[in-house]
Amino acid sequence: MTPSAHDGDAELKNVFADVSDVTRQRAHALVHRLSPLLVSTFYDHFSVHPEGQRFLADAETTNRLRGTLARWLAELFSALPQNPTRLVEAQRHIGRFHARAAIPLHLVSEGISLIQRKLIQHLGEEELSHEQFTDAVIYVANALSAAQGLISLSYWRHRERANSTDTAYRLFALNQDLSREGEAQKATLMAWSYNVLRSIYVAKTPEDLATMRLSRSEFGLWVTYKVGLLFEGTDIVAHLTNLIARVDDQLLPTISNDMQAGRDISAALSALHAGVTEILNSLEVMFRSGRSSNDVEDPLTRALNRRFLPSIMAYELRVASQTGRPLSVLFLDVDHFKRVNDAHGHAAGDSVLRAVAQVLEESSRLSDMIFRYGGEEFLLILGDTDQNQMVQTAERLRQQIEEMPITLLDGSTTQVTVSIGGALYSGHPDYEHLLKAADAALYQAKKNGRNRVEVAGVNREASVPAL
Ligand code: GH3
Ligand code: MG
Ligand code: MG
Repeated sequence: MTPSAHDGDAELKNVFADVSDVTRQRAHALVHRLSPLLVSTFYDHFSVHPEGQRFLADAETTNRLRGTLARWLAELFSALPQNPTRLVEAQRHIGRFHARAAIPLHLVSEGISLIQRKLIQHLGEEELSHEQFTDAVIYVANALSAAQGLISLSYWRHRERANSTDTAYRLFALNQDLSREGEAQKATLMAWSYNVLRSIYVAKTPEDLATMRLSRSEFGLWVTYKVGLLFEGTDIVAHLTNLIARVDDQLLPTISNDMQAGRDISAALSALHAGVTEILNSLEVMFRSGRSSNDVEDPLTRALNRRFLPSIMAYELRVASQTGRPLSVLFLDVDHFKRVNDAHGHAAGDSVLRAVAQVLEESSRLSDMIFRYGGEEFLLILGDTDQNQMVQTAERLRQQIEEMPITLLDGSTTQVTVSIGGALYSGHPDYEHLLKAADAALYQAKKNGRNRVEVAGVNREASVPAL
C-alpha cells in the first residue's frame, strides 16, 4: 500500500520515455500495416477455446471487439509520443472490463504473446541494422509486456467479488484467487525481467542493476508476504526464496560485472533467463498442489476474517524481525456510521462498508492484508512499510474515501469519512502491543475531530509529509 503499489505505471512510462522517434515510427508503421492480421491472430486464439468462444457469440460483438483491439494496438504504438498517464489508465480500464465480463485472462495474455511473436517475426523480415532491429524488438516486447502487466494487475484487483451470489464460487474463492494472483504476479515478474533488459540495452546503466533486486520488486514482496504465509514451512517456499536470492546475489551481479569489464554478457543473460523460467515453473508446481482455505474472507466486504489475525500477525512479526524490514498497521473506522444506518437503513450501511472495503483493496499492494476487524472497523497490515509510507498511505486512503460518492440501492448517493490510527512495529514480540498502539491512535483521531490520521507516539504535525 506504499507508493510502490503503482510500480506497473513506471514500467509502461519508462518504455515510452526510452524509445527513440525513429523506433516508435518504425513500430507504428508495422503495427498499422499488420493490424488486421494481428487482430485475427488474437481472436483466432480465442475462438479455438470453448471459454473464449462464448465472447464471440455474434458477429456484431465480434466486430466490436476486433475494432477495440485494433484501436488498442494503434494507441499503444502511435506514431506520436503517447500521453503515458492516459495510456496507463486505458490499460487499467481494460483490466476492469475483462474482470467484470469474466473474460479468461490467460486467453488475453496468450493472445498478446501471439501478437508479440508476429511483430517480432515481421521485424526480422525488414531490412534493419542489428541495432535498429534490437531497439525495435525491445520496444515492441516491452510495450506489450508492460501493458499486459497493467491489465493483469487491474484485472485481479477489480474482479467482481461483492456481487457474486454463486456460493460455489465463494467456497473456492481464496484458492482460485491465489492462482489468479499468480497469473498477475507472473506478469509482474516478466515486467521486472524486461526492466532488467531495458537497463542493460536501452539505458546502458549496469550500476542500476544493483538496485533492481527481485526480492524487493512487487513480485518479491508478494512471494514473501502472501505465498510465504499460505505455504509457510513447505519445500516450495524455501525453493522459491532461494531462487530469488540467487537472482539477486549471483545472476544480476555477474551481468553487472561483465558489463563493467566490457565482457560478453550473453552467458550471464541466459543464466538469468533460466533463473526466471525456473521461478515461473516453481509457481506452476505450487499452484497445482493448491491448498484450499475456506471461510477466510468476510462475505460482506471480502476482507479477511478476524479469526485468522493471530496466525497472520505472528507470521508478519516473524518476517519483520528476521528481515529487519519495517512493518506498519492501520486501524480504520468509519465516522458516524450509525447515522448512515439510521438515515438510510441497514442495507445502505452494508453498501457503504463494501465501498470502503473496495477502496482499501484497490489501493493496496497484493502483499498487504486487509481484515474486517469489527462492524465498521478495518485493520490493515502493511509489510515493508516505514512510518512515512504508512502516513502517506493512510492519508491517501482517508482522502480517497472522503471524496468517493457511494451509490445506494435506491440510486441516491452518500459520502462518508474515516478516522485512521497507525502504528509502526517497534520490535515488541507481542503483536497485541502493536494493535493497542494503533487503536489508541485511532481513538485520538476520533477525539481530535474525525476524518483524520493519527500515529502512535508521534506528533502528527511533524510526521505528515507534504502531500
Ligand atoms: P464513530 O464516528 O465514533 O465511530 O461513530 P459510529 O456511529 O461510527 O460508531 P458506533 O460504534 O456508535 O456505531 C457503529 C454502528 O455500526 C453500530 C452498528 O449497528 C453498525 N454496524 C456494525 N456492523 C454493521 C454491518 O455489518 N452493517 C451495518 N449496516 N451496520 C453495522
Ligand atoms: Mg465508527
Ligand atoms: Mg467502531
